[in-house]
Amino acid sequence: MSLYVEIGAPHDAALDIDALRARVLGDLHHEGIVTDHRLISHHHVILDPAYVHITQASLAETARLKAELATHDVHSVGRYGGWTYCSIEDNLIETRELAQRL
Ligand SMILES: Cc1cc2nc3c(=O)[nH]c(=O)nc-3n(C[C@H](O)[C@H](O)[C@H](O)COP(=O)(O)OP(=O)(O)OC[C@H]3O[C@@H](n4cnc5c(N)ncnc54)[C@H](O)[C@@H]3O)c2cc1C
Repeated sequence: MSLYVEIGAPHDAALDIDALRARVLGDLHHEGIVTDHRLISHHHVILDPAYVHITQASLAETARLKAELATHDVHSVGRYGGWTYCSIEDNLIETRELAQRL
């Protein structure tokens, strides 16, 4: 099997990757998701930030910047482009609507 596991952490946390991997494997075993499986390959990446933080200030600033950029025919979309929480499907719908509007 192939598994992708996310672990949330504060942006300045000191992460012990080997200990986290051992914890994840132990928890997966405890939950019965893995049994006699053998780990043959692994990779990790630290995303900082992985998710945008949405505040009243960020909403106002995003709206201001999008309006300003649009006057130069620059259209900012997507997760970081819109500073929003979204799925891939949201991104496809948003960009299709933008293309139709343009
Ligand atoms: C940890 C995590 C898990 C997720 N899980 C899911 C999931 O299970 N299902 C789901 O639907 N969505 C999931 N999402 C959300 C999904 O990944 C995003 O909604 C989607 O990738 C956003 O697409 P995007 O094109 O806006 O941005 P991105 O996919 O981030 O693409 C932006 C691209 O621009 C490039 N770039 C940035 N700066 C520059 C530059 N200066 N010059 C050139 N290139 C640049 C980046 O390298 C990147 O390739 C997840 C997101 C995260 C972070």
